[in-house]
Amino acid sequence: MIVKEKKQDFLSYLEDTSNLKGKAKVLFIPEEEKEVSFILLQASQQRLPVTFSGAGTGTTGGRVPLEGAILSLERLNKIIDIDPKKKIVKAEAGVTLESLEKEVNKYALSFRALPTEPLAFLGGVISTSASGVRGFKYSSVRKYVQKIKVAFSNGEIVEIPRGKFFANKRKFDFTLGRLKFKFNLPTYTSPQIKSSAGYYVRDNVDLIDLFIGQEGTLGCILEAELSLQKAVPDYFDCLVFFDREESALNFVEEVKVLKERGSFYPCALEYFDRNSLDFLSEDYPSIPSGNCGVYLEQEINSSQEKSKVLDYWCSLIEKHSSLDKCWFAEDKKSKEKLSDFRHKLPQKINEFLRRHHQEKCATDIAVPPQHFREMYNFYEEKAKVSQINYVNFGHIGENHLHFNFLPKNSEESFKAKGYIWEFIRKAISLGGTVSAEHGIGKIKKPYLEIMYGKSYLKEMALLKKVFDPSCILGLDNIFPQELLFENKNS
Ligand SMILES: Cc1cc2nc3c(=O)[nH]c(=O)nc-3n(C[C@H](O)[C@H](O)[C@H](O)COP(=O)(O)OP(=O)(O)OC[C@H]3O[C@@H](n4cnc5c(N)ncnc54)[C@H](O)[C@@H]3O)c2cc1C
Repeated sequence: MIVKEKKQDFLSYLEDTSNLKGKAKVLFIPEEEKEVSFILLQASQQRLPVTFSGAGTGTTGGRVPLEGAILSLERLNKIIDIDPKKKIVKAEAGVTLESLEKEVNKYALSFRALPTEPLAFLGGVISTSASGVRGFKYSSVRKYVQKIKVAFSNGEIVEIPRGKFFANKRKFDFTLGRLKFKFNLPTYTSPQIKSSAGYYVRDNVDLIDLFIGQEGTLGCILEAELSLQKAVPDYFDCLVFFDREESALNFVEEVKVLKERGSFYPCALEYFDRNSLDFLSEDYPSIPSGNCGVYLEQEINSSQEKSKVLDYWCSLIEKHSSLDKCWFAEDKKSKEKLSDFRHKLPQKINEFLRRHHQEKCATDIAVPPQHFREMYNFYEEKAKVSQINYVNFGHIGENHLHFNFLPKNSEESFKAKGYIWEFIRKAISLGGTVSAEHGIGKIKKPYLEIMYGKSYLKEMALLKKVFDPSCILGLDNIFPQELLFENKNS
């Protein structure tokens, strides 16, 4: 095991892409699960807070420690098994998504729900219940996690398979290894829409689902088994440019209807507003100026299907825009180029914020489909009066955009945060979620409190204490740590 005690040796672990800065006494990099177990047991006995660290690509400060120890999973990075028949991969928490996909591709398999950032770790994406660019078809990673191995703060290691331990309405009563559990779940119900906001709770919930999206507060994910899909034989992707936003939104609505009808539909449906494309045009000068864009990826299962699918898309694009204004990617090189393009925007935003020493000032809001336009118009209206640069982009197929302000100084940042609050309140009034995929981490806690109210946050704190009675794991993620100690005294 590697142990680092000098701050200058672990500076990069004190931040993530939110630009929140943290502090810690020590960094542990275990190489075996029994070392994780040992660290946690010791930490529990000493009441030393422990923050789990994945790749640090998170956007909410989840892995940023505010005190105590950091436990990085980077050395637990083996792919343990790939079962091509059952289409299951078993891997350790520190495996990157990039290497996972590369390995399973060798068996003509793919993890189609793959979140966008290739350097993220498996443990990190499960802990945030992340989603990928293909979320329109494949939704979040939650659905594909079949089993996890978890180390609790008392050092016990247990396996939690999907489909074995269910709540009876809101009551759990089960035995895991040597541990007996009997407790009531919180009384709120997690939104039906795409959401990664607090513990996933509903009647009769599967135990494994409490640990997906737990943001390092209940236990350390050591290993996971994921169900995979067959690799897709062929696909094309394209970026359609629109000179009017209204045309882009109408195009998207028609595509959503395709999905509702159950006919073929793209796996990815993503939006780039005018400002996003202008921002990217520094790197891609051939982007037509003043346009917004919709990116789609269409899987093709057979050559017969190909011409039908292409004809369909050509006519739909002609209806709302023009084929001359499309970037089509059919061969490997152009597909890679388009995929890099898609990934470039969040990277550029993060670079911009780092350059200007500003924290992330963005939304991860999703709203019910019937309210998407209202939310979109609200963004536009407020952004115009703000006079702060911004980009608005993301998973439009799931009614989920990332509105990002680009503040150049702390004055703009302060102002932008006020607008973000307005967006949050609006989304909640429409039945939306304050986090659809990035989690709450440290920086979005106040939003979660508005979404659920303090009494539900207290119930979350009680749930955490069931699995982490010494209250040392992922402190200040999801809810303020004071709630843990308030409950103790009450
Ligand atoms: C360019 C870019 C694009 C992105 N695109 C997407 C996207 O499309 N969809 C999306 O959902 N996210 C996206 N993200 C955000 C980020 O990649 C995800 O949140 C990802 O899930 C974080 O994984 P990580 O390994 O970096 O975790 P970290 O940032 O290191 O940690 C995230 C949280 O998980 C906890 N954690 C980490 N490992 C464990 C473990 N083994 N056990 C228990 N808790 C653990 C941490 O304590 C922390 O709370 C993007 C980020 C970037 C920089």
